[in-house]
Amino acid sequence: MDQILQPATRPLMEALFARQQEAARADPVVSYAQRRDRLTRLETALTEAAPALIEAMSADFSYRPAAESELFDITMSLREIRHAKRSLSRWMRTRRVRAPLYLMPARGRLMPQPRGVVGIVAPWNFPVYLAVAPVAAALAAGNRAMLKPSELTPRTAAALEEALAQEFAPEELCVVQGGPEAAAAFTTLPFDHLLYTGSTPVGRKVAEAAARNLTPVTLELGGKSPAVITPSADLDRAARRIAWGKGANAGQVCVAPDYVLVPRPMMEDLTAKLEAAFLALYPEGAASPDFAAIITPRHRDRLRSLLHEAETSGAQVIRLPSDSIPAKQHKFPPAIVVDPHPGLRIMQEEIFGPLLPVVPYDTAEEAMAFVTARDHPLALYVFGRRQEEIAPWLSGTRSGGVTVNDTVLHVAFDTLPFGGIGPSGQGAYHGEAGFETFSHMKPVMIQPRLNAGRLMEPPVTPRKRQMMKLLRRII
Ligand code: NAD
Repeated sequence: MDQILQPATRPLMEALFARQQEAARADPVVSYAQRRDRLTRLETALTEAAPALIEAMSADFSYRPAAESELFDITMSLREIRHAKRSLSRWMRTRRVRAPLYLMPARGRLMPQPRGVVGIVAPWNFPVYLAVAPVAAALAAGNRAMLKPSELTPRTAAALEEALAQEFAPEELCVVQGGPEAAAAFTTLPFDHLLYTGSTPVGRKVAEAAARNLTPVTLELGGKSPAVITPSADLDRAARRIAWGKGANAGQVCVAPDYVLVPRPMMEDLTAKLEAAFLALYPEGAASPDFAAIITPRHRDRLRSLLHEAETSGAQVIRLPSDSIPAKQHKFPPAIVVDPHPGLRIMQEEIFGPLLPVVPYDTAEEAMAFVTARDHPLALYVFGRRQEEIAPWLSGTRSGGVTVNDTVLHVAFDTLPFGGIGPSGQGAYHGEAGFETFSHMKPVMIQPRLNAGRLMEPPVTPRKRQMMKLLRRII
């Protein structure tokens, strides 16, 4: 490791938090101009540091294609910042809300206000995007923010800290470094909001720590996201888009299709098309320059053991080539696992790598029962050409989000909220949803001089009782 990150001590975190809190209290009304200026500085920091960040990400992963880092980490982050800048004045507007009949002529307003000081904990798989996108939303909403990047991408974390420190005073935005211990201490700070992205087991700990301070949390977690092939699906297209969704970042994507459900008579055809699609995207298999490495040898060993268990249980495994991978790159070749037993670890744990189980089903009801009997996934993908085959999947299952006839891309659809449900997360962000997550949408009622409020006051006269009876009928 080139740079050893200095883990932040608890007193340092507390001092930074106190400084941000004091600044937030001294400047509670954060104007449009201030917010726009912060977003512009975030954009500048990211643009200037982009080459260094791309290099750092590749070094942290032992190899990561520059084009992937550019698209998923830099461009997606810039989109989030620019979208916020363009929409900010509209998002910040106080919304009018119609009063119920019995309170008329009162007026209602919904007034977005900054929450104050927010904490953001980021994972390693998109170490720039999953840090910068929540920061953009937090700044757009007028907050001050403390960011804790993942210790598994230390070079990226250091480059990000340096870039942000060029543009921001620590009382506006600061970076706190460190591993699980520092992260755990970080989540005990009494933030006004905490957004955590990472695994479900750690998400539980974060929720517990936040609960002690009654800090509201947004949890962006993981899970096993199925891709469902319906009988009317275009198999060539489905295979190509599933292979793309699984191959990107070598499957280390929270919304990567985890496994495929396919009608039994179509399984053989789909498997062949998936293999062809992987080869078309990565002609040299794992050695292809467009294929990323696995974050650490430990994570690679885990994938190896998932595959080994599936293979020794008798499942058919189709591997893509893995020749001539430089020894220092911890790459793992894509593999299709045909019809694994549901009890295997590969069908129990989130895979988070380039292994793709293909599971046959006999009836649509059986396939749906397979999905609904498990935790609500972060994403669900359904492929088909007939509405009557797609619609039951939309209404009959719950998942964080859905893409029909493609994979992963609903994440980039940032005029839609993004988040999980149940074990795959709670709350949402991206675009306006992110602005609202980091704002207190304060309800305000404005009572005009002429109003019926006194009718509710005692003493309760017979006339007032009559009015109350009437009220009961009209509400
Ligand atoms: P992780 O939970 O191991 O780590 C994420 C962050 O949590 C790191 O910054 C780490 O330092 C911190 N952390 C570790 N221990 C902690 C503790 N006790 N208290 C507080 N923070 C702690 O997750 P990971 O391995 O980096 O990420 C992979 C997981 O994240 C997968 O499950 C994936 O699906 C999920 N994920 C979800 C999304 C999403 O948007 N929903 C995006 C990316 C990844």
